Amino acid sequence: MTRPRILIVGASIAGPAAAFWLVRAGFDVTVVEQASELRRGGNGVDVRSEALAVIERMGLLSAVRAKVLRIKGMRFVDHRDRERARMPLAAMERMVGSEDLEIKRGDLAELLFDATKNDVNYIFGETIKTFTQDERGVDVTFAKGPPQRFDLVIGADGLHSSVRRAVFGAEEAFLKFKRHYFAFVNVDLPMGEYGWVTFYNEPGKSAAIFRAEPGLGQINFMFRSDTPLSYHYRDVEKQRAMLREAFTGLGWHVPALLEKTDSSPNFYLDALAQVQMPSWSSGRVVLVGDAAYCASPASGAGALLALTGAYRLAGELATHGISSAALSGYEAAQRPLVAQKQRQLFTGLSTPRTRLGIITRNWLLSPPLRAVISRMQGKETPANIHEYCFRPAVSLQAEGATGLATERLPSSPFAREGRGVER
Ligand SMILES: Cc1cc2nc3c(=O)[nH]c(=O)nc-3n(C[C@H](O)[C@H](O)[C@H](O)COP(=O)(O)OP(=O)(O)OC[C@H]3O[C@@H](n4cnc5c(N)ncnc54)[C@H](O)[C@@H]3O)c2cc1C
Repeated sequence: MTRPRILIVGASIAGPAAAFWLVRAGFDVTVVEQASELRRGGNGVDVRSEALAVIERMGLLSAVRAKVLRIKGMRFVDHRDRERARMPLAAMERMVGSEDLEIKRGDLAELLFDATKNDVNYIFGETIKTFTQDERGVDVTFAKGPPQRFDLVIGADGLHSSVRRAVFGAEEAFLKFKRHYFAFVNVDLPMGEYGWVTFYNEPGKSAAIFRAEPGLGQINFMFRSDTPLSYHYRDVEKQRAMLREAFTGLGWHVPALLEKTDSSPNFYLDALAQVQMPSWSSGRVVLVGDAAYCASPASGAGALLALTGAYRLAGELATHGISSAALSGYEAAQRPLVAQKQRQLFTGLSTPRTRLGIITRNWLLSPPLRAVISRMQGKETPANIHEYCFRPAVSLQAEGATGLATERLPSSPFAREGRGVER
C-alpha cells in the first residue's frame, strides 16, 4: 500500500513539528524550505503551557531545557539607567500561568529538524512554484525540482505565507495591523545585566537589550504608529531610516544601540501584525502556525501556537485521514487557543502609550503590588491538550471518499495565470 503523501512548505517550528507527528501516523512527508539550510539563531521564543505538553510527548523536553536562555526577568529603567521596576521570571510565569522555557527560535527548529531528519524528505533551497488541485490530489511544480503529486499540502511558511497568498489571496485581507513596528538584531552587547531583559521607555516607544551570555545578546525596538508606514519589505535601508527617525534624540543607551543596529547585518523590522482568517484550509491545502494565525511577537505565543497547531493538525489527520473531518476537527480544536492568545498582547507592559502609562506600569510592578496581583491571579493550572493516537493504522483515505469539499478547490488560479508563489 502506498503511503499518502504530504508536502509541507516551511522548515522552522510549525513545519518540522507537523512532520514529526505525521510520519508517526504513517504519512510520507516531504518538507521544502526556501532557505539554503536550516535557519539557526534568531529571536527567543517561549515554550510554555500546552506547548510544554507537546514537547514532552515528543520526548524533547530535556533537550529543550538544555538549550534554554537563562532569563532572570525584565527590568525597566529611566534615561539615567536607574531601575524603576523589575519583574522576575517567577512573576512572569505566574502572569502566563505556566513554566516558561525561553529558547532561540533556531535552536528549537534545530531540535525539531534533528528529531525528524531521518524520516522526512527535507529539501532546502527549494520552494513551490504552482499547484493545481483536483478531487484526488495536488499537482505541485517547484522552483528547481521536478513536478510531484501530493495528497495534501501544508503551508507552514510564516507570517508572509506564499501558500496563503496563492490559495486565499493577498495578505492585506488577513493581516491585522496592531499599531506598532518592531525591530531586532542579534549582537554582542557591551552593556546590560546578564540574564535580564532591560527596557527603556518613552511614550509609545521601547528600546530593550538582553544580554544572555558573553558574545550573545539581542537589541529590540518597538514603536507605536497609528497608521501603517509605507516601505518595501526588501528595502532594509529604508527600514533602518524609519527606526532612526522614531528613536533619534532619545536618551539612555539608545544612540549606541542605533549605531550597533545600523552596522548589524541581521537587522529585522516588521509591522506588529496578526493573521486572522475565517478558515485555515481550502480543499487539500491547509495552513499551520504563523501562516494561519500569527498572534504577533507581542503575544509571546508564536511557538506555542505553532507547536500545538502542528500537533492538533497531525492528530486529526491521524484520526480521520486526509478528509474534511480532519481539517474541521483541527480548526475546532485550535481556534479557542488562537482566539485567547490573539487577545493577549503585552504591548501595555513593554511599550506603554503615555508617560502616565509608564509610571503606572512601574508602580504596578513594585514588589508589594506585584504580590497582591499575583495572589489575585490564583494558582497555576497545568495546561493540557488532548492526547491523539499516532498509529500508522488508518488507511488514511488518500484516495476516494475524503469528504473534502472539492467545490472549494481553486482550480489553480495562480497556475493559470502563471504566477509564482515566491515572496
Ligand atoms: C522579532 C520576533 C520576536 C518574536 N518573539 C517571540 C517570543 O517572544 N515568543 C514566541 O513564542 N514567539 C516569538 N516570535 C514568533 C515566532 O518566531 C514564530 O511565531 C514561530 O517561529 C512560528 O513558527 P512558524 O514555523 O509558523 O513560522 P516561521 O518561524 O516564520 O517559519 C516559516 C518558515 O517558512 C519558510 N518559508 C517562507 N516562505 C517560504 C516559501 N515560499 N517556500 C519555502 N519555505 C518558505 C521560512 O524560511 C521559514 O523557515 C517572534 C517573532 C519575531 C519575528
